[in-house]
Amino acid sequence: MTDTAERTIQTSDPRTGAVTGSVPNQGPDEVAAAIARARVASVAWAGLTFEERATHLKAVRDLLLDRAEQLVDVVCAETGKLRGEAVFTELMVACELIDYYAKHGGRTLQPEKVSAGSTMVHKKAMRWYEPMGVVGVISPWNYPLTLTMTPVATALFAGNTVVLKPSEVTPLVGVEVGKLFAEVGGHPDIVQVVTGDGMTGDAVVRGGVDMVCFTGSVATGRKVAVAAAEQLIPVILELGGKDPMIVCDDADLDRAAAGALWGAFSNSGQTCMAVERVYVQDSVYDQFVDKVVDGASKIRQGEGPAHDIGSMTFPKQVDIVERHVDEAVDKGAKALVGGHRVLGKPGLWFEPTVLVDVDHDMAVMRDETFGPVLPIMRFHDDKEAIALANDSVYGLNSSVWTKSPERGEQLAARIQAGNVCVNDALVSYGVTSLPFGGVKESGIGRVHGEEALRRFSIEKSVLVDRAGLKKEVYWFPLPKRIDRMGLKLLRARYRSGAGKKLKALLPSRNPR
Ligand code: NAD
Repeated sequence: MTDTAERTIQTSDPRTGAVTGSVPNQGPDEVAAAIARARVASVAWAGLTFEERATHLKAVRDLLLDRAEQLVDVVCAETGKLRGEAVFTELMVACELIDYYAKHGGRTLQPEKVSAGSTMVHKKAMRWYEPMGVVGVISPWNYPLTLTMTPVATALFAGNTVVLKPSEVTPLVGVEVGKLFAEVGGHPDIVQVVTGDGMTGDAVVRGGVDMVCFTGSVATGRKVAVAAAEQLIPVILELGGKDPMIVCDDADLDRAAAGALWGAFSNSGQTCMAVERVYVQDSVYDQFVDKVVDGASKIRQGEGPAHDIGSMTFPKQVDIVERHVDEAVDKGAKALVGGHRVLGKPGLWFEPTVLVDVDHDMAVMRDETFGPVLPIMRFHDDKEAIALANDSVYGLNSSVWTKSPERGEQLAARIQAGNVCVNDALVSYGVTSLPFGGVKESGIGRVHGEEALRRFSIEKSVLVDRAGLKKEVYWFPLPKRIDRMGLKLLRARYRSGAGKKLKALLPSRNPR
């Protein structure tokens, strides 16, 4: 809740509604001061070798592990997720990413010699990777530790300093992340945390940072893209999804059903790459639905270790889930399991829900639901499965379930998405060597992998003359007939005969 008069944001525990704390709703002046501090810190930080930066980040990771119990407490109190979920999906991914870059990032950012082409053989061509300066990181509430730690760590590995704006729904986790960097010693100012709502986020984008890494909704992503365009700064946008799952007639149905349940319901479905719609081939549809219904009825929702899923996090999200389910049922869908908001106890709870008889006229099959809802639809053949999967403005993650590796890869190649899992769900984000990101409205750019480290860098192209001639042949004064000389060179160098070969392959224009 934002109190603009007091300029504070109060946070609460979604499991109980109890107040957990408050943070200031910071404005442009405070953001500008944070960017200025990060700018000063960037000089020393950028001057370190990659190995020195890696040692520092590993020390931050050690501190994170020392404080793991307390961090898990804060994550669970702000999100309502279970402790096990927090350990595996928040802390582990952050630790793994630091491990991956510490081991491989130095090589990724090494100056790279590339071919200077066939006409510049006497030059040395290189790509260098240099820090951008100060990176703005703006994050959402669904994975408040991973989605702050991983972009922040990537920016730092690349030699940048960071201004982090955590979600106003889960700001206390962001504050804890800031403390890890401030307290580890050595370079206390490399991560500045500013707290507040969208206005604070906008002030980060417009406040003089050199790049922005934004994770959040499509609607806000558009605003961030416009603001970044006005500043002419690069931006990575990690946005929403409506991820399809295709279950083929030759799939292991036990594994597929268990994967669907986990993919749709873990973190109460509040995962950008959650399984949001399932397409099952006709001949195995009934069997698959039975298995899912059986599994969904046994999911234990609540607080504490004897449960499988916790509460939802954000009041508005529960309203969206309820609206999607109600609209689908009004239009003819059936809820075989769940279907309602849990009433009569405090906190934000929505029953794990399985829907059938759904179609693409329903919001639950088109828009991001971001809640514990698993809608299932039939398909006849692979062509129809792909048409249904691709009938979406989103393209983040997706999955294909089949015992045939060939069929799996063939379908994966035809799905319009930045990521595809075969016989698995969600986990590609945890494989930090794989670049992660979306196509279509799911975003621009990639986090993780070599790509992200380079995207957080200025790629500088350097060309060094090695021949030391008095002058190049194309400098002044131009030699007479340089045009003829040039054409001779072009033909000798580039004529390949492909034109003739292509003509021979093409059908004759006049077959008679
Ligand atoms: P959101 O877009 O409402 O907010 C995200 C962040 O943007 C918050 O910190 C918010 O304060 C800030 N913000 C709001 N207005 C802003 C503005 N004008 N300028 C700059 N910053 C502004 O998203 P949310 O509700 O926090 O998160 C849920 C969404 O995030 C879902 O759509 C989900 O799919 C998406 N998400 C995507 C990924 C991914 O990796 N692709 C990961 C997690 C979540």
